[in-house]
Amino acid sequence: MTTFSDVGLSPELLQAVADLGYTEPTPIQAQTIPQLLFSDQDVIALAQTGTGKTAAFGLPALQTTDPKNTETQTLVLCPTRELCIQIVRDMEMYAKHLKRINILAVYGGTNIETQIRALKKGAQIVVGTPGRTLDLIKRKKLKLGAVRRVVLDEADEMLSMGFQEDLDSILSHVPGERQTLLFSATMSDRVLSIAKKYMEDPLRFSVARVNAGADNVSHGYYMVNAKDRYELLKRLADVHPGIYGIVFCRTRKDTKEVAAKLMQDGYNADAIHGDLSQSQRDDVMGKFRGRQLQILVATDVAARGLDVNDLTHVINYNLPDDPEVYVHRSGRTGRAGKSGASLSIIHSREQRKIRDIERSSGIKFKQLVAPSGSEICQTQLLSLIDKVKAVEVDEKQIKPFLPEIYKKLEGLDRETLIKHFVSAEFNRFLAYYRNARDLNISGKKSRKEREERGGRNASKFKRVFVSVGKRDGLNPARLIGLVNELFRSDEFSIGKIEVLKNFSFIELEKDVADLFVNGVSHLEFEGVPVNVEYAEELHGSGKRSSKQNARKKRFTGGYGGRRSRSDRGGSGHRKGKGRASSRKGRKNKNKD
Ligand code: AMP
Repeated sequence: MTTFSDVGLSPELLQAVADLGYTEPTPIQAQTIPQLLFSDQDVIALAQTGTGKTAAFGLPALQTTDPKNTETQTLVLCPTRELCIQIVRDMEMYAKHLKRINILAVYGGTNIETQIRALKKGAQIVVGTPGRTLDLIKRKKLKLGAVRRVVLDEADEMLSMGFQEDLDSILSHVPGERQTLLFSATMSDRVLSIAKKYMEDPLRFSVARVNAGADNVSHGYYMVNAKDRYELLKRLADVHPGIYGIVFCRTRKDTKEVAAKLMQDGYNADAIHGDLSQSQRDDVMGKFRGRQLQILVATDVAARGLDVNDLTHVINYNLPDDPEVYVHRSGRTGRAGKSGASLSIIHSREQRKIRDIERSSGIKFKQLVAPSGSEICQTQLLSLIDKVKAVEVDEKQIKPFLPEIYKKLEGLDRETLIKHFVSAEFNRFLAYYRNARDLNISGKKSRKEREERGGRNASKFKRVFVSVGKRDGLNPARLIGLVNELFRSDEFSIGKIEVLKNFSFIELEKDVADLFVNGVSHLEFEGVPVNVEYAEELHGSGKRSSKQNARKKRFTGGYGGRRSRSDRGGSGHRKGKGRASSRKGRKNKNKD
């Protein structure tokens, strides 16, 4: 086993790591520390947050700092304010037994004058975000002439946040005779290109498989209809009563909506997104760190650099398009040796994204079954019982009330009392989940299965006439697409489909058919207004009604050949703006 003395740390630093309870170096520390202490070769380390990378570069940076020289000797660049603060906090703990070493964080969003004053006093180690660092260099307040080591922390994040140009400018101010260290969770081409540009014959370390997620994180996904995402999120929160996690959404709008709904439904949740001011953001983050909030709903951008250990869950309310982003998200749980779960909520068409992530990162996903109502009730009940057992009883406080309480409960035996007490706490919960639906869908197969089921039970369908056909570019798949899109779902059965030259028939579940025929105010296919109506008199016959025959005549015979757009659909029909094309049309017709 390698120890901290084996890697060459000074007694002051050995004492500091012992104070922190670190017993042995993590793999990245065992590889990086001796290299930085005894060589000036450049280093690329593929390491995620949670691997101990801050100490891996922080400890040797402190040990090699000359305390008599107040000039800046090490420059650490990282993507966000939160990460800057975190790095400085960690390094100050490591420097606890060292004298005359100043470590300073410089980042945007706060008063630059304060940072300038601190720089004037001298800071041997400066940890900065690229924007503010460059600003201070340009104002000639941060001088880099004595810098011997540059650390690019979370290099991939800095690049994806668009800091490439700032990095170029900053590095042009640092003497060429420097050691450059690059830490990154992923090794994309962009990261490799900065390595090529700024580093000389770098030594490479890796503590994770290339582009792999942390090993102590389990990856699972639930497949539900898009409309059930929120319901599933709630169930996940309910089935993990001790959850402490981040829910990632794709947009600010989703983030706000999901957080608002969670709060309304009584969860300890809040959101961080780009519309918050720095102080609002600090406030939410403070509450989350202090565990007053259990669930933080965030966009990827807002969550950058957000460094919170001990997260039990990362939930992907939407999967990101970029597999690298998934690796970053899931790397926020399972830190410091703890296990964590990264759960994704997907609908059937997103299975491809899961496969993409598996291919590019080596992560393996498990498909999970959305928790049922009874599963959730059981977990919640047992957690309630655990809480009751663990609660601290303040004898003195409750003593005066007890005689009255005992009197009221007289005649209730232990079992009855337990039942009453559990019901009082739990009835609302039980009622909510009593008839909870099964949210799981099984992907592409399910539509086929549903259709097969539908075929065996055709009477549950209503046959609907649709006024567009092959001539309009329609085919069965596009007709299904038209219906799915209209209802934003593919969770209902579709029976027989016939796409003929000028019009089509589709069998839909009764409710869906009713909505399709009566509830749609305006329907178009490729810019052509579409009429739909029941084909009930012809159910199963494949023939057209006289009304529909008449329509065919008007559409084709009357105008000879292919119709012009304006002649087609509802507008060419005697019924005017017909049933499916506009509610208003229906009203007008009734007035007539
Ligand atoms: P980092 O990857 O730098 O964000 O570190 C993740 C966490 O691991 C931090 O909370 C550190 O305090 C902790 N840590 C770093 N090095 C060690 C170590 N050698 N032993 C135990 N914990 C460590």
